[in-house]
Amino acid sequence: MTATVPRIEELAAPSHWRTVDFISDLHLQASEPATVAAWRRYLQTTDADALFILGDLFEVWVGDDAIHSPGSFEAQACADLRAAAQRLPVYFMHGNRDFLAGAAFLAHCGITGLADPTVLAFHGQRYLLSHGDLLCLDDVDYQRFRVQARSAEWQQRFLSQPLSTRRTQARGIRQESEAKKQSGAPYADVDGPAAVQWLRAAQAATLIHGHTHRPAEHVLAPGLRRVVLSDWEPDASPPRGDVLRLSPQGLERLPVATM
Ligand code: MN
Repeated sequence: MTATVPRIEELAAPSHWRTVDFISDLHLQASEPATVAAWRRYLQTTDADALFILGDLFEVWVGDDAIHSPGSFEAQACADLRAAAQRLPVYFMHGNRDFLAGAAFLAHCGITGLADPTVLAFHGQRYLLSHGDLLCLDDVDYQRFRVQARSAEWQQRFLSQPLSTRRTQARGIRQESEAKKQSGAPYADVDGPAAVQWLRAAQAATLIHGHTHRPAEHVLAPGLRRVVLSDWEPDASPPRGDVLRLSPQGLERLPVATM
């Protein structure tokens, strides 16, 4: 597959922002209470001036109406986000798990949607932000599914089903992908040349993305790099989960276990 550079949105950080936090791939779900607790603690205590969530905050999102289902996991998660959004601006980019989080979700939580990709202009530097799945070109089956699942027809058909049916279907899809993982099928990674193309089009030096669960920093070409966010599993050994913090001095990784 060859890469096409998608439309790149742009966001200028207000000059009073001194620190911006990036997180992704928390895969929040009721069956992982340690991750939920770490996330809640982080939301309540971060002193960043803005928070950017770069996809897969949720393990799965089956429709915004889940927020109104009494006592649901989604209702509680939204309440947590809403409380945080009263302290600092929160931006939300879709991942491949929560791409169905819609306008009602954003409005309910008081957070702002972010197109994938978006350039953040911050203190004279340009940072290209993406979930990262669109750049995993080798995963041909997934790219095909992505095109389908992002179409209005597919989404209308899926969302027109009862909530319980959607939950069952989502469980089935997750079990399939879990089985694929267990079978040792190689994980697709971000395509280097495509990432370079995106960066050049965005006139940015740094790509920040998640999705691959392989936290690292890679030099792509002279002066061009990609910085990969970590997933969160604070009760794994060793614990996983970082916040990537941007300040005028640059990027630093803060382990959530110590925050
Ligand atoms: Mn992902």
